[in-house]
Amino acid sequence: MNGLILSLSDFLKTNAVEIRTDEYKVNIGCKSDIYVSFRAVKISDDKIYVNGKIKGLVYLECSRCLFVYGHSMEIVIDIVVDVVNGYFNVGEEVRQLLVLEIPMKPVCSRDCLGICKACGRRNKKNDSCSCDDGDGESIRERWKELLIKATGGSENAKSKKKTYSSSQGLQEIGKLKT
Ligand SMILES: [Zn+2]
Ligand SMILES: [Zn+2]
Repeated sequence: MNGLILSLSDFLKTNAVEIRTDEYKVNIGCKSDIYVSFRAVKISDDKIYVNGKIKGLVYLECSRCLFVYGHSMEIVIDIVVDVVNGYFNVGEEVRQLLVLEIPMKPVCSRDCLGICKACGRRNKKNDSCSCDDGDGESIRERWKELLIKATGGSENAKSKKKTYSSSQGLQEIGKLKT
């Protein structure tokens, strides 16, 4: 059963209960390391005021460099929960708050510039590879030039209308050299 379902019977001696979880297991579609702490105050027999914090990390894949990183979460809980059959479920509220806060396009750091398509390096602002422009286009252009030279003229190369992948291009040039 969900660790954050509380019972009205918890309020027999007091009208406020403090809860602090150990690592809280929550089903949000990714690995997480979440801690929940809150104070629940009984307003009436069917309403509980819950105030507290969700803190920890969710592990997301950076949308730029595909690296899985711990995304820091700190969410305020400030809700009124309905009591159903003597119980109230803070766990489901926690899950929904977390899901709402998970970014659609996670980024591992503000400086992340993604992966260079030419060399595969994870580039960052002020720390990036020196490939021409990193989008792979420059490499294709260079191969095209080499092929045109190797096949003896641009007319010839164009009329062939054949697309070379990098590895095919290498073999082609290798043959021509020997
Ligand atoms: Zn990244
Ligand atoms: Zn590069």
